Amino acid sequence: MTLKELYNTGTDILKNASIQESSLDAWYLLEYVTGITRARYFVDSQQTVPKNHQKQYLQLIQKRAEHIPLQHLTGVQEFMGLEFHVNEHVLIPRQDTEILVETALEKLKEISSPVNLLDMCTGSGCILLSILYYMKNKKQITGTGVDISDKALEVARKNAKSLGLSVDFLQSDLFDKITDKYSMIVSNPPYIRSDVIKTLQEEVREHDPMLALDGMEDGLYFYRKIISESEKYLQADGYLIFEIGHDQGLDVSNMMKDAGFRDVLIKKDLAGLDRVVLGVYDTK
Ligand code: GLN
Repeated sequence: MTLKELYNTGTDILKNASIQESSLDAWYLLEYVTGITRARYFVDSQQTVPKNHQKQYLQLIQKRAEHIPLQHLTGVQEFMGLEFHVNEHVLIPRQDTEILVETALEKLKEISSPVNLLDMCTGSGCILLSILYYMKNKKQITGTGVDISDKALEVARKNAKSLGLSVDFLQSDLFDKITDKYSMIVSNPPYIRSDVIKTLQEEVREHDPMLALDGMEDGLYFYRKIISESEKYLQADGYLIFEIGHDQGLDVSNMMKDAGFRDVLIKKDLAGLDRVVLGVYDTK
């Protein structure tokens, strides 16, 4: 088979399996297996693909047709322009979360060094590590990532290593093992309401870790816990910055105001949906 025939076959199989981005996913897998760039494909699409690549490609297409996420097949996801290792033990980084990182980077400019940063529910480490990556050489900054899952932390440590960043990753159920105080806490906790989980896309529902999605009955369990405990772990004027679900802006910002945070703000993502809530911890 030629590259073009193989690519078309892959696309058709995915389309028949009702995979949303069938031709895009078929392309990424072709690139993954053959190492060919898009530019070379347009020149060489009539080139014959070696048998072993054909076989490997069609096996991966088969798995994708079973709704296994593309990122679990390639083992990576791009986030903030960086490449992160992922597997079934971590939530696949979402583009929506970039606004949380951008907000943190903006606020970090205003905070004087040294900065002590905590990422609660770190998963793949993508939030913490991209903040540290872009703050490197700009601020004296120490980062700690917390997760309840040791398996997730293995992935986060691998990511820190590939990005050449030194970070402390700690297994802890929320703040249980935390003793320090931080100038900023960022978090993308599990926030999907238990009854909404069954309506999610199969890729998410069956393959992202439930531990990373389930925000319990009203979806707000982790915000409640983190907000109520954060006063022990935030320095005066420290920032708390959350990713939230599109319909949680009001609830989470009210919780923060009630807990004595000031300058509480809701920020929208690229789709125009509420995505981030932030506030400053006020000791007064
Ligand atoms: N944004 C993710 C989703 O839509 C959920 C992330 C989370 O629960 N923290 O699936």
